[in-house]
Amino acid sequence: MKQIQTVAEWLSGADTAVAFTGAGISTESGIPDFRSPGGIWSKVQPVLFQDFMRFPEARYEYWRQKSVAHADFADAGPNIGHTSLAEWERQGQLRAVITQNIDGLHQEAGSRRVLELHGTARSILCLDCGRTFPVDALVAQFLETDTVPDCPECGGRLKHATISFGQALPGDVVEEALELAQDADLFLAIGSSLVVEPAASLPLIAKQSRAKLVIINRDPTPLDGIAEIVIRAPIGKTLEAMSALIRH
Ligand code: NAD
Ligand code: ZN
Repeated sequence: MKQIQTVAEWLSGADTAVAFTGAGISTESGIPDFRSPGGIWSKVQPVLFQDFMRFPEARYEYWRQKSVAHADFADAGPNIGHTSLAEWERQGQLRAVITQNIDGLHQEAGSRRVLELHGTARSILCLDCGRTFPVDALVAQFLETDTVPDCPECGGRLKHATISFGQALPGDVVEEALELAQDADLFLAIGSSLVVEPAASLPLIAKQSRAKLVIINRDPTPLDGIAEIVIRAPIGKTLEAMSALIRH
């Protein structure tokens, strides 16, 4: 495909290329996305952060949902989409990955500079003392006891280290993401419906600064009209094809 060839050429010549990824890059690893049919929000109502803080029942429902999602995460490994981005970073074609994903698969694939806008489901954070703990043991404890675990250190409220609805995004991460977008000469938006903030603005900011914008997503997005190139195809085989062209 001509478009894949062109993006591969742009990547080869880029100095400050950035990839922005959403749930779509991880569906080929077996983790469902949010907004596709059969996606997570067609099945459950998310627990709002305010409710989590106030009500024990909301905390129980939160842990119940997260324990179900944990099974998807625990079994999943990176796919060729994740490993391609890691390879491009190693080869000096890609500066960073900005992600909305919480699954940790970019790091597992070998990407080093990963900005997690929505935190990570790989660890548990105590909202009262700020300590973090590995996720597996605490989810296992919840499943065994059917009771929300308390912080082992201070007895406080434990929550996955992800950003819930109603909770602010990490300011330092957002700021760094904005700088990368402003500085990018090529911006690849991969597997995101580009409807929630800051996903909706980052590609726009990159484009308004100086970047060429490429969107790789199965379904149309609201930003397709301003992109130089839109590729509506499966992410894994698209990035794999680009990698092959970059190498040769
Ligand atoms: P989204 O669900 O809104 O959109 C995903 C997009 O990916 C869809 O438009 C779909 O067309 C596309 N897609 C799915 N599989 C694809 C494939 N194999 N090839 C090409 N395109 C594909 O996702 P979003 O924009 O990232 O927003 C959802 C929110 O969900 C984020 O806040 C994120 O934190 C959270 N989330 C994360 C995970 C994860 O960590 N893996 C999973 C589900 C949801
Ligand atoms: Zn604590």
